[in-house]
Amino acid sequence: MISIAKPFIGEEEKAAVLEVLGSGQLAQGKRVREFEERFAEWVGARYAVAVSSGTTALHVALLAYDIGAGDEVITTSFSFIASANCILYTGATPRFADIDPVYYTIDPAAIEEQITPHTRAIIPVHLFGQPCDMEAIAEIAARHNLAIVEDACQAHGATLHGKPLGAWGAACYSFYPTKNMTTGEGGMITTNDAELAARMRLLREHGMRTRYVHEALGYNFRMTDLQAAIGLVQLTRIDAWNEQRRQHAAHLTRRLTGIPGVATPQVRPGATHVFHQYTVALAQRDQVIAGLTEQGIGYGIYYPTPIHQQQIYQARGYTDVLPASEAASHKVLSLPVHPALTETELDQIADAVIATVREAALV
Ligand SMILES: *Cc1c(COP(=O)(O)O)cnc(C)c1O
Repeated sequence: MISIAKPFIGEEEKAAVLEVLGSGQLAQGKRVREFEERFAEWVGARYAVAVSSGTTALHVALLAYDIGAGDEVITTSFSFIASANCILYTGATPRFADIDPVYYTIDPAAIEEQITPHTRAIIPVHLFGQPCDMEAIAEIAARHNLAIVEDACQAHGATLHGKPLGAWGAACYSFYPTKNMTTGEGGMITTNDAELAARMRLLREHGMRTRYVHEALGYNFRMTDLQAAIGLVQLTRIDAWNEQRRQHAAHLTRRLTGIPGVATPQVRPGATHVFHQYTVALAQRDQVIAGLTEQGIGYGIYYPTPIHQQQIYQARGYTDVLPASEAASHKVLSLPVHPALTETELDQIADAVIATVREAALV
């Protein structure tokens, strides 16, 4: 069996957790502070604020920009639901811009079409580990005075023209077990804006700078020292893991290029893609899924239903037609690309795809 994701927890992670357990300091403490410092350094950001998940990172970042009822925020419908739900949590209204059909990331021209006098922010999602067209997005944001909250939950370590994610405002990360690095559950926001970072620290901890003095309506979105201890060890491994993901992706692309009915993932010029997912577009997805299943090879469909077609958005009256997002949801298939795969397994995956595509062509 080859699984679609395989989180790695080694002896060092286990020892780090035991050390925290022995220390008696379990909640947010010195390990969280250390993890924030190291993560900021690693990303190349001035500040990093640790929180309880990628979802709460997005929520806190929007609140820190003072977004709420009456405001609109533009994002993509071709993502995990949290990319849009974080907008609803604040009382603001999500508006969906369609994606670029080659890179599956938000299309800057489509963002422009969604701008109204109420628009306050854009949430570009660096989907599958591929940076969005941030230069074009930043230009639109500057022209309309909009905040940028990057959803980097799948893109730890990705860069664009040498610039780290978050360079355009704030970037939100998730440490859920299937992501490129994990703390079990957890999240982080990076930014170069000191005031924004201070506000996010306030909001994650009940609006409290001085004990029991509550300056703002805040939340308990804290990370624990147990999680931070795991994250600190994972940070020493992430560069090697991302390099392995890129090499595995290159191997699969070498094998699958030119196979009829298979479109391999494209990397944006100037981008460092960190291949959270290796996602192909298939003319005959059902047949390929059957072939992979028969051979015990895991796969994923990210995402089978665009957000605007989910029940909660349908119930809110969303009637958007987003042709590229809808088409992608019917064609995409993510193949295993995680660091633990062997070359033999990568060939097994490619062979299974090629064999089923050939068989499908014969019937
Ligand atoms: C995982 C993910 C999130 C949410 O992160 P959690 O830590 O699970 O809350 C948000 N956006 C995207 C694109 C994700 O992949």
